[in-house]
Amino acid sequence: MEQAAVNISKAGFDEIRKDFPVLSQQVNGHPLVYLDNAASSQMPVQVADRIDRYHRFEHSNVHRGIHTLSQKATDYYEAARKKIQVFINAADEHEIIYTTGTTDSINLVANSYGLTNFSEGDEVILTEMEHHANIVPWQMAAQKTGAIIKVIPVTDSGELDIEAYKKLLSPRTKMVSVIHISNALGTVNPVKEIVDLAHEAGAVTLIDGAQSIPHQNIDIQDIDTDFYVFSAHKMCGPTGFGILYGKKHLLDAMPPYRGGGDMIDKVTFEETTYNEVPFRFEAGTPPIAASIGLSEAIDYLSAIGMDAIEARESELVEYAEAELRKIDGLRFIGEAENRASVLSFVFDHIHASDLGTILDKQGIAVRTGHHCAQPIMRRFNVPATTRASLAFYNNRDDIDRLIEGINYTKSFFE
Ligand SMILES: *Cc1c(COP(=O)(O)O)cnc(C)c1O
Repeated sequence: MEQAAVNISKAGFDEIRKDFPVLSQQVNGHPLVYLDNAASSQMPVQVADRIDRYHRFEHSNVHRGIHTLSQKATDYYEAARKKIQVFINAADEHEIIYTTGTTDSINLVANSYGLTNFSEGDEVILTEMEHHANIVPWQMAAQKTGAIIKVIPVTDSGELDIEAYKKLLSPRTKMVSVIHISNALGTVNPVKEIVDLAHEAGAVTLIDGAQSIPHQNIDIQDIDTDFYVFSAHKMCGPTGFGILYGKKHLLDAMPPYRGGGDMIDKVTFEETTYNEVPFRFEAGTPPIAASIGLSEAIDYLSAIGMDAIEARESELVEYAEAELRKIDGLRFIGEAENRASVLSFVFDHIHASDLGTILDKQGIAVRTGHHCAQPIMRRFNVPATTRASLAFYNNRDDIDRLIEGINYTKSFFE
């Protein structure tokens, strides 16, 4: 069966919208404007069809199967791992571990690496702009080990205070775990510099790439981080699936996080020896269909080109920022020089949830709230923001509709 090619041609990004039927529906009597891509991106038909075909014609459990369907499913499942390795330019496909998402990946590292390597008085450095997924697992590991959490502060414009970070680093620093692109502010953090400084101090690094992998080319060997994590559903893939990248020598030394089938070498009631990496971390029947879906999503994104996607989104963000700036009373939360895909803002006299509700009545989907990042909301002294987050399939019409919607909402409050 032939795959439908990506609908990109010389006509450009507008053609691509045809790949996303979800975008051409009416919501509350208006054409949908989907600006909640930082929470989850939409899935193109190519990925949905691939997953559907797997379920209809190809499904079987992977590994250990002697029959043809099982061997084929195993081939697809392992080919997906190879595809992901190449996509992020990891050195070895065994450095790619399947998880249920960013959250699960961080919990795996905090438990497996953290609990065995942290001791009383050791320090874990996070930033003030972390997603809760990159805070709570470390707090739990710290409570169990006596380690201490340190936090890199954020400046008024929403950037990390790198000088303060340098002062936090010490021989006690065991882990530096930092968000690459902030889902609440849109700030793009200088992860290479952060990783280099951590390594100089003898610390290990984790980069939360949930918002960077969909928006830019990632070269893991260039960043040189020890761990990098992301979710499939923010990059045109399915929910409930994600990746932990880890350097092989670190993963090899890490104990399993979950026990069960597939992760073992030999089991007796007295003792179990464990399988090699990555299988040691993939207990039980894995999300086979999701791995094939992510593989297809990577083909889809690669056919467009991550550099083209980044350029497209930068242009849209610039346009949106300029248009939003014209609205009286709108205040951005996060105005970093280097920002991507996310526009977060507040009004003094309009509560974010009221704005979100009235926008929804006009078919415009934005997210309002704390964006799973309460500490950074507290830092900016706001309970919530309205967040418009863009993907490459958005266009200027979407932004114009957002601006109209905000102006319409404002007319009720004046
Ligand atoms: C979405 C997100 C997460 C959590 O991802 P899940 O898929 O819910 O596990 C973590 N960090 C950032 C920056 C995110 O945007």
